[in-house]
Amino acid sequence: MQKEDSDSSFPLFDLEFQSTSKRMEMMFYNCYEEKIRPCIDLIDSLRKLGVDKDLNLPAIAVIGDQSSGKSSVLEALSGVSLPRGSGIVTRCPLELKLKKAKGSNVWKGKLTYGHCELDLTDPSEVEDQIRAAQNIMAGEGLGISHKLISLQIESSDVPDLTLIDLPGIARVAVGKQPVDIGDQIKELIKSFIKRQETINLVVVPCNVDIATTEALKMAQQVDPSGERTLGILTKPDLVDKGTESNVVDIVQNLVVELKKGYMIVKCRGQQEINDQLTLNEAIENERRFFEDHKDYRPLLDNKKATIPYLADRLTTELVAHIIQTLPELAKEVEEKLSATTKELERCGEGVPDTVHEKITFLIQKLNDFGQNLRSLSSGEEPDDCIKEQRCYAKVRNEFENWKCHLDRMKYQFYDMMHNKVMEYEKAYRGRELPGFINYKTFETIVKQQIVKLQLPAIQTLKKITEIVRDAFLDVAAYNFKGLPNLMRTAKIRTEDLRKQQESQAEIQLQIQFKIENVVYSQDSIYGQKLTKAKSISEEDSVQDVKSLKSDKFRFTFTSMPKNGATIHEMTTHLKIYFKIATERLANQVPLIIGYYILQEFATKLHIEMLQLIQEKDQIDEYLHEEIDIADKRKTLRNRHQRLAQAHDHLSKFY
Ligand code: GDP
Ligand code: MG
Repeated sequence: MQKEDSDSSFPLFDLEFQSTSKRMEMMFYNCYEEKIRPCIDLIDSLRKLGVDKDLNLPAIAVIGDQSSGKSSVLEALSGVSLPRGSGIVTRCPLELKLKKAKGSNVWKGKLTYGHCELDLTDPSEVEDQIRAAQNIMAGEGLGISHKLISLQIESSDVPDLTLIDLPGIARVAVGKQPVDIGDQIKELIKSFIKRQETINLVVVPCNVDIATTEALKMAQQVDPSGERTLGILTKPDLVDKGTESNVVDIVQNLVVELKKGYMIVKCRGQQEINDQLTLNEAIENERRFFEDHKDYRPLLDNKKATIPYLADRLTTELVAHIIQTLPELAKEVEEKLSATTKELERCGEGVPDTVHEKITFLIQKLNDFGQNLRSLSSGEEPDDCIKEQRCYAKVRNEFENWKCHLDRMKYQFYDMMHNKVMEYEKAYRGRELPGFINYKTFETIVKQQIVKLQLPAIQTLKKITEIVRDAFLDVAAYNFKGLPNLMRTAKIRTEDLRKQQESQAEIQLQIQFKIENVVYSQDSIYGQKLTKAKSISEEDSVQDVKSLKSDKFRFTFTSMPKNGATIHEMTTHLKIYFKIATERLANQVPLIIGYYILQEFATKLHIEMLQLIQEKDQIDEYLHEEIDIADKRKTLRNRHQRLAQAHDHLSKFY
């Protein structure tokens, strides 16, 4: 027997035939310490932080049809007896975290499920405790559950590996099993094997037709090229004599091709278990079985057979897989971290316990709110409160619209002014000679025009009130996150004040329009504009005479009524006055709205909210946190902490 040829380079199994040349051993050891160990440690440290709650870490899932030998393979790898028997035995996903301990003779186990955590000191406890855990998680009987049971084993005799044992694929329901048990199990298996972070180990007994194996079909569905699928053939000792070469063909990847290929192992059969054969003895038996078998011997020589080689291979595969998935993992951690930070911010910072602290907390909240309101009303609201556009920008927009409206009205008026004046001339002209304008006509027309602007001014007010109210509520939502009662109070007071401020501003606008009925402008301002207008108009007349021959102007002259001079005079005055009045309103209306709806509204709302501090017996009510928000904040803080640490670990690793 050539011991050198058949050594396992994996120093996990303390078997006498495992000895190899010292040089090889050192090489592997160095490689292990330098490359493998840090990778496994990294994922381990992430798992320890609990990052596996937030994202999927690289792992190996074991799948197969019922009684294909999954648990036997896991047992052999872990050195621990797992529940087994006929029918459905594995009823929950079982995560088996194997961790190679540095010292010798170490064995420490920990079983975690739901909120339970159980320390185990002896391998013999494992089987019963897993059964008990399954009964708790999946109920007594034959049902299954998606809830994970986690078994961590730290021992000098195990490889560094994390494996997940899944219920076997059952074809028919038995006993009190739900009729769709097969589909339920498949769903559960799929949820694990579809993850890109998982290497799928498909366990297939040698004594069945591999092409009909359900587990292999499922693995092929989620991983068509077999990039993450490794086939494990079991029970080679039960193969019909003479059909061994078929098995060898499968292992040589000649039948159902998988990128990762196949391995073959022999575990304890029922008889060996009954005979209480130890796992170590079983490993020796396995070795001898392959060495002595003329068909299988080459597979052993190619390191494609036996549990120790499988352990070796799996660790290598897992490490390669870890290295491959690390960049994606780092990215995912970063994304989750920033999402958690945002979510945590949305939760607010939490209410203190003592009465005194609570009052200070409330004052602080209300003052921050007031400060933000003031900033908003002066166009400097905090970025976090802005939804799509700054409130002030929206308000300014509405002010501009108001100015545009005035301009439009002005030109409309200019267009129809001529007819209007003629109409009035006919109806009201008294004994004045042409060229003397009738002041009453002038006043009547002015008043009629200006009153038309009142409704649009009030509409502008209403639009702006809505904008400001919404912005104030956004500020409240920002400042009173997680405090629904305070938010509700802010909403009610904002709404009440909105009505009050809006109606005051409306009254003020109405007064402004009443004032406009006075028809007034400073003599100097009016006089200046009149002189300017007249000089332009004289220039125009000279131009008109010059181009008398042009058809266009002839028409104007011939169609000019007898009292043309009066009309001309009147329209000039109307134009000037209307210009002055609209310029005045272009500023005055925004000033009124700005004062009542931005300034005063913000100040009053702050004062109103500050009055809550007086209501001492209500403070607890106001500071009552959203149901579950405290829990949510705690969960988020924990998640944030572990992701930040994971991020740290990952960035140190690169
Ligand atoms: P599981 O349902 O896939 O977990 O299958 P188990 O690991 O419980 O194995 C089913 C039966 O097959 C048990 O009685 C094992 O002892 C037996 N068995 C597993 N592997 C082998 C093997 O390599 N050779 C023999 N003869 N029996 C095996
Ligand atoms: Mg099993």
